[in-house]
Amino acid sequence: MSKNLLICDIDGVMFDMNYEFLYWYNKNYPIQKKSINDLKKDLNYKKIKESYRFSGHKLSIDPDPIIIEVLKEARNNYFDIWIVTSRPNVGPNHENTRTWLDRNSLIYDRLIFCRTKESLSFSEKAIDFNKVAIVDDQKKFLRSLSVSLLNLKDFKSMLLVNYKSSHFENKSEKEQKLKELRSYIND
Ligand SMILES: [Mg+2]
Repeated sequence: MSKNLLICDIDGVMFDMNYEFLYWYNKNYPIQKKSINDLKKDLNYKKIKESYRFSGHKLSIDPDPIIIEVLKEARNNYFDIWIVTSRPNVGPNHENTRTWLDRNSLIYDRLIFCRTKESLSFSEKAIDFNKVAIVDDQKKFLRSLSVSLLNLKDFKSMLLVNYKSSHFENKSEKEQKLKELRSYIND
């Protein structure tokens, strides 16, 4: 049976990345920030971001429940699931990411850490697939990932979904994108 492929991002898709970062910051630092843009203006932003990365906070985040469902549906419909992340592959990041995915029933076949999604070359394995869906919260990465795949082969069809698990995104727009993704997966 021919297989399909779902490529899914973690940060920004499986949970609201900015919301969690801000929440962690305000819990741990004395001066409160109102928004992620406020936080970005902090002179120590880089240091803060690094502390966040190593804090282990990400392990405690609850993923968007709808994404858990989408991955299950994909598996039931003969999709291979490749999780592609540009989280830096340093320290305990890799292991923590796996632990978090497994703990939250986020199904996957491959976990790919890449330094940048803009120059990722997929292995020849990818030519075995029929339909392809790519989900990322950043449009530019949808573009580059699709180009990398199309360099291997013309797929029967490809769906690019710019999904943001954000508390501030338009709800009906989010629902529409999920509907489109799910009908593609279940078709
Ligand atoms: Mg992302």
